[in-house]
Amino acid sequence: MKVNAQVILIRCKSSKRLYGARIQQRKGKEWDMTWSFPIDDMRAKNEGFDKTTLNVDCCATEEYPGCPTCGATGYVQCAACGKLTCWNGENRSKCAWCNEQLNDIAYRGAMDISVGDD
Ligand SMILES: [Zn+2]
Ligand SMILES: [Zn+2]
Repeated sequence: MKVNAQVILIRCKSSKRLYGARIQQRKGKEWDMTWSFPIDDMRAKNEGFDKTTLNVDCCATEEYPGCPTCGATGYVQCAACGKLTCWNGENRSKCAWCNEQLNDIAYRGAMDISVGDD
């Protein structure tokens, strides 16, 4: 069976560093987060990771190391810019991309992920 894997881009809320999370389809919209690695904006663009668009419900696996800077295993999507910021269960955070305040963050299941710069 062919494994369907993608990379989504997440920015760390504390360091503002970009990283890629490798996700692997389990079934339907359910995807497992299996790996993470630091990446710079230029390389993310060259690899086309900024073009990833998916509707997925990601779940961190036990091997998933989390954010390379702070270790957060979750992510939250900003309502203003639609991009992803690392998240560790707190109910308030700031978007690492546009600095928008994010309140009452809750787990919301599958979401549309489009992490491009434009
Ligand atoms: Zn982080
Ligand atoms: Zn934002």
